Amino acid sequence: MKVLIADDDPTSRLLLESLLKKWGYEVTVARDGTEAWQILCRTDHPLLVILDWMMPGIEGPEIVGRLRQSEGSSPHYVIIITSNDNEDAIVHALNAGADDFVAKPFNPSELQARLAVGFRVNQLHMALVDKMQKLQQATDTISRLARTDELTDLHNRRSFNENFTLAVSTAQRYNLPLSLISIDLDHFKRVNDTYGHRAGDQVLQLCASLLLEMVRGNDIVARWGGEEFIILLSHTDLSAAVSLAERLRIVFEQSPVTACPYSFTASFGVAQFKQELETEEDLIRRVDDALYRAKNQGRNCVVMAE
Ligand SMILES: [Mg+2]
Repeated sequence: MKVLIADDDPTSRLLLESLLKKWGYEVTVARDGTEAWQILCRTDHPLLVILDWMMPGIEGPEIVGRLRQSEGSSPHYVIIITSNDNEDAIVHALNAGADDFVAKPFNPSELQARLAVGFRVNQLHMALVDKMQKLQQATDTISRLARTDELTDLHNRRSFNENFTLAVSTAQRYNLPLSLISIDLDHFKRVNDTYGHRAGDQVLQLCASLLLEMVRGNDIVARWGGEEFIILLSHTDLSAAVSLAERLRIVFEQSPVTACPYSFTASFGVAQFKQELETEEDLIRRVDDALYRAKNQGRNCVVMAE
């Protein structure tokens, strides 16, 4: 464990240094408050600190105050040491943010015991910080999983809805076009029934990766349900959305599936959001109607919403 000793009195400083080294600490020494503060501003500086109260430059309590204002997740353990042992001095040091106070001349065994307390507290802090980081990572993972479709890694319906609401309000505020493409694989039941659900899953995963390859980075591709997908296209008008859907239709048609001998196709509905005339639900309904008409028109085609 690293310790910083800051004391302007050479005798006291040498005594502290030799004792602490004997007790197994890795010691850094500062001869006044300014030097102490410079050391404490370095990265990887000692977190266990023994400060003399009265020092040229910056005094002990002032250094503690600065430390307390700037410290992040790894707090320092600070022992103020001084011959000024009246009760007011102790109260002042602790109020300034010191963790402990030792009066000169000190009893070495007592100082050793107090340093051990500081060491324990710092170890506990570090263990706590480590646990909090792990907890944060776990929370991030859970939050990602709650918004991800397990099979395809696409956005799930919940994540789509969150992004959709946000995108609609942005489109309304800045009067920007916004479109949706709704996609349903044709005769998908046939794959599952004939070749099993694993083959079906492979087809869905292939579709997901094709969709991700074809859209822009900020478009939202979600698995809407079984073999149905939806794409949220911000800053995109109907004609651009239709031409993307047509490109997707061709790519689907031309992609071989290794899991089964079928080539697969999909039907597409496309709709642009009507500013101030419809709600999110209305837009979803219109794009679904368009998809339904694509199915009725013989599948493997793109239909625009009315
Ligand atoms: Mg002094």
